[in-house]
Amino acid sequence: MESTIEVRNLAKRFGNFEAVKDVSFTVRKGDVFGFLGPNGAGKSTTIRCLLSLIRPNAGSIRLFGKDLQKERSAILSNVGSIIEKPDFYKYMSARKNLEVFARISGADVDASDIQKMLEFVGLGDRGAHKVSGFSHGMKQRLGIAQTLLHDPDLIVLDEPTTGLDPQGIVEVRNLILRLKNEQHKTILLSSHQLSEIELIANRMVIINKGTSIIEGEVAELLNSGELIVVFTLDDARRAADLVQEAFPQTKVKALSDGELEIITSGIEVPRINAYLTQQAFLVHAIEPKRKLEDYFMKIIAQ
Ligand code: ADP
Repeated sequence: MESTIEVRNLAKRFGNFEAVKDVSFTVRKGDVFGFLGPNGAGKSTTIRCLLSLIRPNAGSIRLFGKDLQKERSAILSNVGSIIEKPDFYKYMSARKNLEVFARISGADVDASDIQKMLEFVGLGDRGAHKVSGFSHGMKQRLGIAQTLLHDPDLIVLDEPTTGLDPQGIVEVRNLILRLKNEQHKTILLSSHQLSEIELIANRMVIINKGTSIIEGEVAELLNSGELIVVFTLDDARRAADLVQEAFPQTKVKALSDGELEIITSGIEVPRINAYLTQQAFLVHAIEPKRKLEDYFMKIIAQ
């Protein structure tokens, strides 16, 4: 399948500080691709490199199969983005703002196209209203309409729901899904929340401290065959050794004197429990954790 974005071993320093150390990922045509990482992970820096706003120190970026450094303007004319809060002329109407942006960017749209875009983002009856009276969510949706003016194949959204109220979040989320389903756009969406990515993205990469860690299908990453199970019991350290010996295919670690973490397939959990009981351990609790969620929470906690 054709890749829309291919980033390989990207690095970007600011002075001596390596904001991005080694980021690689591939976005395929038609993906809603989640770019997930805690604050400060290097998401915005990577996105700014992708949009050619800053120059990376190392690595390669290809968009639509073309090298960004060599075919910058051809590539960027096919990309729409919101990377900070969209900036509008407050005292102009929503429609007028889109007309002005269309003129500046040379987009070939007429009044009825602009009306269709306003309708698409749920602002069909607000076109004549001044942007100064818009909520943050409405401005965000108008920003998405603005990215559509030149009909790009790829839309890059940096933390598009941050700071929105719950209703605004749902509206922007639904809009992103409609961009994919109705307009067949490819979307790169950054977020620091796994729940956000889980709801709308089909593929994702996790980045932390400037490095990409894991990439794949969201459904597979969230429901991978392996499960982390934490057993609460007495003498976890001795139990760890015994379980590891009896179940060599599992990964066992004593988290503390009273907690044993076992990475295993779900079917083995009752057998491990029976074994521990047989060995006279007192198992107080067994808590399954989704692997990715647990992993991501640990990253964030660091
Ligand atoms: P994220 O988008 O994942 O929150 P950023 O890419 O914004 O992360 O930032 C990554 C790191 O790089 C942060 O520690 C940030 O302070 C630093 N950083 C970002 N831009 C600059 C800059 N222009 N100069 C110096 N440091 C920067």
